Amino acid sequence: MIDFRSDTVTKPTQAMREFMVKAEVGDDVFNEDPTVNELQRRVARMLNKDAALFVTSGTQANQVSVQAHTQPGEEVICDYHAHVFNYEAGAAGMLAGVQLHPLLGHYGHPSLEQISEVVRPADDHYPRTRLICLENTHNRAGGTIFPLEEIKRISAFAKAKGLKMHLDGARLWNASIATGISLAEYAQYFDSVSLCFSKGLGAPLGSIITGTQEFIQRAHYYRKAYGGGTRQVGIVAAACLYALDHNITRLQEDHLHARMLAEALGGCVGFKLDKNAIQTNIIITEVTNSEFTADKVVQMLKEKGILALTVGNSKIRFVTHMDVDRAKIDQAIKIITSLFG
Ligand SMILES: *Cc1c(COP(=O)(O)O)cnc(C)c1O
Repeated sequence: MIDFRSDTVTKPTQAMREFMVKAEVGDDVFNEDPTVNELQRRVARMLNKDAALFVTSGTQANQVSVQAHTQPGEEVICDYHAHVFNYEAGAAGMLAGVQLHPLLGHYGHPSLEQISEVVRPADDHYPRTRLICLENTHNRAGGTIFPLEEIKRISAFAKAKGLKMHLDGARLWNASIATGISLAEYAQYFDSVSLCFSKGLGAPLGSIITGTQEFIQRAHYYRKAYGGGTRQVGIVAAACLYALDHNITRLQEDHLHARMLAEALGGCVGFKLDKNAIQTNIIITEVTNSEFTADKVVQMLKEKGILALTVGNSKIRFVTHMDVDRAKIDQAIKIITSLFG
């Protein structure tokens, strides 16, 4: 099977597993796991932040961050298609007790004008706006990159208003590789940044949060409350360290593969693609052929050995990643062209 459903399906390689076996470990709830500590120091340095905290998943990274920035009843501004709004099981309401205020952004990225319009005035009728949560790259919008200039404007506005900024950077690695803008340059505009190792970086699990020492201390408390305090987890942190050394620059291959696949799909009958949205490793295409639903197309692809996901009723998502090499891309293009070309 050629699996384009997500970059989360990547499996740890033999070399990564061998590196994991050799990890020195300790009790991480006591901050005594040397491999976790090394990973946290290293990522904090990469993002030029004071501190970092290793967590179990991207959802936990975002939710612990939301909780650490807010009080119950406060409001968090995000994009309408944001992961934190759509794909985290309603946790922000359930756990942090905050209200999300979604905005329909351009390619997943709300503008300063949209954001400034919904910041609540000081009046007891309203919830208090506390946090702005951005996503880069944007998953549901198709791996789209948040323009740095707009991030700067939003960040300056947030500072002036006393609002906090959180970045869901599950795929910030992809944004950085695609633009040449460093992780630190992106991170300087946010109070906290979360990143995932289990997507394009190929680790079996693990995410990390970065921010000030004081923020990370609070996050450490909430991580425990959220059930994310784990013990000899250096064995997993080792996979993430391995991924930092070996799997970041290669993301450009995934981006090239996405462009190749998008090109092929764009040439097929019954698919409509927005070329401007193909910026990293995610392709979302609309199925416009009246004979086939998106479900039917996914089924036809599956019968030929290609896995993809439907998005809503009429769209299909393909994600390129390290477990689909060039030969498999060529093979997939051949199959897709023979079915729909
Ligand atoms: C995958 C993802 C996450 C985290 O997902 P988990 O499955 O909880 O690790 C968060 N944000 C974005 C944008 C994602 O794509």
